Order: sequence, then structure tokens, then C-alpha cells
Amino acid sequence: MYDAIIIGAGISGLLSALVLSKNEKKVLILEKQEKLGGICQSYKINGYTVDNGPHIITRLENGPLRKLIIQYFDVSPDFIYHGEYYVRDKDKYYSFPWNLKSFSTFSLIPRKDRAVILQILISTYGRRLMGEDFLNTSVYDLLEKRNINKTTMRFVDTLCYFMTGVDSKKASVARFLDSLDYKSKSKGIITIHGIDPQAYLSKIIKLLTKKGAEDQGYPKGGIRTIINCIVQSLNAEIKTGEEVKEILIENNTVIGVKTQKREYKGKIVIYSGYASELPNIVEVPEDYERELRKLEKVYTLTLWLGLNKKYFQRRGSEIWIDPKCWVVPVSNYDPDLAPEGKQLVGFGFVLPKEYNLEEEKKKALDGIKRIFPEIEEDIDFMHWQVLVPEKAAWSINQKMPGNVTPIKNLYLVGTDTTEKSMGITRASYSVLDLMEVIK
Ligand SMILES: Cc1cc2nc3c(=O)[nH]c(=O)nc-3n(C[C@H](O)[C@H](O)[C@H](O)COP(=O)(O)OP(=O)(O)OC[C@H]3O[C@@H](n4cnc5c(N)ncnc54)[C@H](O)[C@@H]3O)c2cc1C
Repeated sequence: MYDAIIIGAGISGLLSALVLSKNEKKVLILEKQEKLGGICQSYKINGYTVDNGPHIITRLENGPLRKLIIQYFDVSPDFIYHGEYYVRDKDKYYSFPWNLKSFSTFSLIPRKDRAVILQILISTYGRRLMGEDFLNTSVYDLLEKRNINKTTMRFVDTLCYFMTGVDSKKASVARFLDSLDYKSKSKGIITIHGIDPQAYLSKIIKLLTKKGAEDQGYPKGGIRTIINCIVQSLNAEIKTGEEVKEILIENNTVIGVKTQKREYKGKIVIYSGYASELPNIVEVPEDYERELRKLEKVYTLTLWLGLNKKYFQRRGSEIWIDPKCWVVPVSNYDPDLAPEGKQLVGFGFVLPKEYNLEEEKKKALDGIKRIFPEIEEDIDFMHWQVLVPEKAAWSINQKMPGNVTPIKNLYLVGTDTTEKSMGITRASYSVLDLMEVIK
């Protein structure tokens, strides 16, 4: 009898196991793949070390992963400061406008549109403070009738893809307000709709003065390093190559799980696979199942290029408008990821719902060549990946289910359970939320 059985050994499952095992719980982790880490993998190929998609970790100063590292890790990963974000349109560069002041001079988009967007931002923050949640309002809904110019719309769409995985017609405005809630809830005594107005005001002031991505970083050695640190700090039984085929229930309460090999008994079960696929292994009420099935996956295409020349000189990453792409020169953070004298760069593209992979690869490469016409001659190494970055895109008309399920002692964890932040930061929030729930 285990205190907890964890289904899935991605970062969400492993962090959950770590916290429970540090609290003296007897924990079993079951992973269907042969490797631990889920999406968080780094591997060596032709002398280059590539991650499963380019990764920059956010909220490293006071965010959820930092909290977990301080409290539970015996061995900590090293993070290298991310640096600036740049926006590139054709051959022009712009520093990403992190605060309202720099946005007011952000010359990529016309002055008239900047004024319109500023006005929308301020009124939206005000409405948020008065309790509107904006979960089902799309970014497009706010801009639709404002006569916005094409470049502005392209920039907004790129940001939406980058932050939520979907375009402005589907991206929830709430995602862009999330950072206002970050750290703002716990400080004050008086709150309006759960938000402390004083802390909220200080957030708005921060929005006016924020310098940039100060608390973001790249994990030295690659994304897999974080998994290695968790595994080294962990005291749990781990079984790989075992897929949970059924969650066992008696009187609407979890009693264990069944894999292709055998049954295991547990007091609680934590599921960290796709929430939308939970109904495949356990019967849940119909309306709950309907909500889970709405959660939408988005696929991304990553192209890793090993370059003979250093094409990217600056510390930081680039957001491209055309093609829509996120470009991270990872060997600028950790030169050991590439052979000596070479540069390793990850280019991330969002794939449409239906796609032809070869056509998408061609489009991606052609787009890069439009920016750097001579790059082909300097390519030493090329590697493609198709992956799902978030188990659920943050789009309107769907609701993340949280950690609690209608079945007693069955919990969910992972990037498709909470609306907070994104990626590994979101996974870490979901673990902290889960621990609050099962405390
Ligand atoms: C291209 C790309 C770029 C990214 N960029 C960033 C970034 O810049 N910053 C950032 O913070 N994050 C980024 N991410 C996201 C981040 O990697 C993921 O959010 C995170 O790794 C998800 O972790 P998870 O544990 O929730 O899910 P997963 O890693 O998917 O883990 C789930 C695990 O459960 C297992 N499993 C499922 N069902 C079963 C079953 N029935 N039985 C047994 N095992 C099961 C799966 O095999 C898997 O190992 C990126 C991801 C990609 C793909």
C-alpha cells in the first residue's frame, strides 16, 4: 500500500513525488516511457546538445519553481540570466516593450495604434480590479472594432501564439493579466474580488517601470538538468515502461491503479498525463468529461540549427513577426551545448491544427532564409522536433480543471490544470496548488 501513486514522470509528476517523499510519504511513480522527464529532455546529437524545444524558465526569483528548489531540492540547477527579448521584423530590431513607457515609443507599430492599445490596457486592468475575469474574452474581441493596422495585428498575433499557443481570436485576455495577479494576492489585508488593491497598484506601477525579463533564465547543461536534480533529491520507487491502463475505484474512491503488468494499491492517485485523456483510464461524470475533452493541445515545430558562424551576438532571445517564430541561441548561455566555434540556435514555430509536416518544415526554413539569405551555407547541423509545449493552450471557452476531480483521492497535476503563467512555471504552480489541496 503506497501513500501516493503518481502517474507520469514529467516535471509535474516528479515534483509532486519530491514534495510528498520529503514529507515522509511512501510514493510510487509509474511512467509509460523508458525515460524519466516527459517533455523535459536534452540529448546529444552530432556533438550538439538539444533540448525538447527551446526553454527559458520564468519567475525564477520568487516564483513557484524557486520555492520548490529552496524547500525540497538537495541539488540545485544553475540558471543563466536570459537577457533581453528582441522583436524582429525583417531586418529591423526592437527591444521588447516591457513597460508602458517603452511601449509608448515602440516604433514597430504606429503611434495611433499604440495610443489605442494603451487605452485598452488601462481600462482592462481597471475592469479586472472590479472583478471581471476575462477568461472568455479574446484579445481580438478587445481590438476588433479599433481599426488596427496590419503590422500591429501581426505583432499582437505573434504575442498571442507565444503566450497562449493560439491566435488573437482564441487567446484569452486573462493570460495577459495573469502577471498582475502574480505575488499580488497574499500581502494585503483588504481585498477586492480576491485582489489586494494596494499590491495591485504596485503591479501597475511596475508595469510602468518594469525593466525586462530580469527573473528569467536558461538551465545550464540543458533542460534535462532540472529533472536530474529532482531525481537526485527524490526518495520514491520509480517504475518506467509501465503504462497505467486503469485507475481502480471503489465507492467513488480511488483504491489503486492497474498497469499492463500488475495492480498497485494506493491511498491517493495523482495523474499527470493529459487531463483530456483521463476519461480513457477511469470513468468520470459526463459533464466533467465534456469539460476535460475541450482542453486543446497545440503542436509546435522546433528547428535546431548548428551554425559555423555566430549569427546571434546578443544575450537574449528574439520574437520574429514574419515568420512567427521564437529564436533562442542557447549556446550563448552555455557554450558546451555546441562544438567549439559553432553556435546552436532553436527556432520555435506554432503548427496549425491540420498540417503537412514537410510543407511546414519548408515554410520554416524559407522564413529563416528570408531573414538571413546566406544562412544555408553556414549550417553545420539541422534537427527537427514536433512536440506539445503545453498540455492545454490557454484559449477562450475552456476551463482548466484544477487539481481536484469528482473521484475521491484522485488528483490532477500538470500544465493543463491551472491558468497561472506558462510551461515549467505553470507546472510548478500546479504542484504547489495540489499540495495545498491534499495537505
Ligand atoms: C517546444 C517546447 C518549448 C517549450 N518552451 C518552454 C519554455 O520556454 N519555458 C517553459 O517553462 N516551458 C517550456 N515548455 C513546456 C514544458 O516543457 C512543459 O510544460 C513541461 O515539461 C510539462 O511537464 P508535465 O509534467 O506537465 O507533462 P509531461 O512532460 O508531458 O509529462 C507527463 C508524463 O506522463 C506520462 N504518462 C501519461 N499518461 C501515462 C499513463 N497512463 N501511464 C504512465 N505514464 C503516463 C507521459 O509519458 C509523460 O512522461 C516547452 C515545451 C516544448 C515542447
